[in-house]
Amino acid sequence: MATNVEEKQGNEQPSQESRHQEVGHKSLLQSDALYQYILETSVYPREPEPMKELREITAKHPWNLMTTSADEGQFLHLLLKLISAKNTIEIGVYTGYSLLATALALPDDGKILAMDINRENYELGLPVIQKAGVAHKIDFREGPALPAKNHGAFDFAFVDADKDNYWNYHERLMHLVKAGGVIGYDNTLWNGSVVAPPDAPMRKYVRYYREYVLEFNKAIAADPRVEICQLPVGDGITLCRRVS
Ligand code: SAM
Ligand code: CA
Repeated sequence: MATNVEEKQGNEQPSQESRHQEVGHKSLLQSDALYQYILETSVYPREPEPMKELREITAKHPWNLMTTSADEGQFLHLLLKLISAKNTIEIGVYTGYSLLATALALPDDGKILAMDINRENYELGLPVIQKAGVAHKIDFREGPALPAKNHGAFDFAFVDADKDNYWNYHERLMHLVKAGGVIGYDNTLWNGSVVAPPDAPMRKYVRYYREYVLEFNKAIAADPRVEICQLPVGDGITLCRRVS
C-alpha cells in the first residue's frame, strides 16, 4: 500500500547498485491492487464472522487507523496455531481485533494477558468477543505495566502500543517469554517513514515516533538473544524468537 511518505517521495527510483537483489520481491507494499487482491482472495473469504463484525464496528470509530488490518489478523491467527501458543501477552488492545484473532487461535484453556491504558475502546469490542465464546481466555488489565512475575510463562507476545517504549518492553519480555517463544513487534516500518529523508513532510506523531522505531529496528537486529524476521505485513511486523 502506498503511504503518505511514499507518495511525497514521488516516483524516484533508487540507483541500480542500491536496489535489492531479492528475486521473488513483488513490491507488495507499493501496490494497492495487489493488496486488494490478497484481501479479496485469501483474507476476507476466510475471516471468521466475529472478526468481520469487530472490523466493521471498529471502522466506524474515529481512531480506526489504529486497528490491526485483516491480513495481519489472519497472519497472527495462523502463527499462533503454528507455534501451538497457549499463554500470550498483548500490549495495546484498542477495540480488540488482534486480541480476538489471538483468542480464536488459542485452545479453550489458553490465556491472554491483555493490557491497555484505555478500557473504553476494549469495551466497544467486548460484546463481539463474548458472543464469539472466547472472553474467558482474556485477562484484561487497564494500565501500562507488565507483570513482574510469571518468568518464562508466555509462548507469545504481541507489542502494539507505546512505540517509544519498545526496547523497555523487549528487556522485560526477554524474561517473560519462554526460550523458544515468539514476540511480534508491530508497526516497525512506521508508515514507510523509516526510509524517508528526515526533512520529508510527515504527520506530527509519525515524525515523533520515527526516531524510536529506527533505534529499535537497529537494536533488535543486533540482539543475539533473538532470531528475527521483519515482515512487510500491515505496517511491518518484526517477529523475534527468543533463543536464550
Ligand atoms: N492491537 C490493536 C488492534 O488490533 O486493534 C491496536 C492497538 S493501538 C495501535 C494502540 C493501543 O495502545 C491504544 O489502544 C492505546 O490506548 C494503547 N496504549 C498507548 N499507550 C499505552 C501504554 N503505555 N500501555 C498500554 N497501552 C497503551
Ligand atoms: Ca499496529
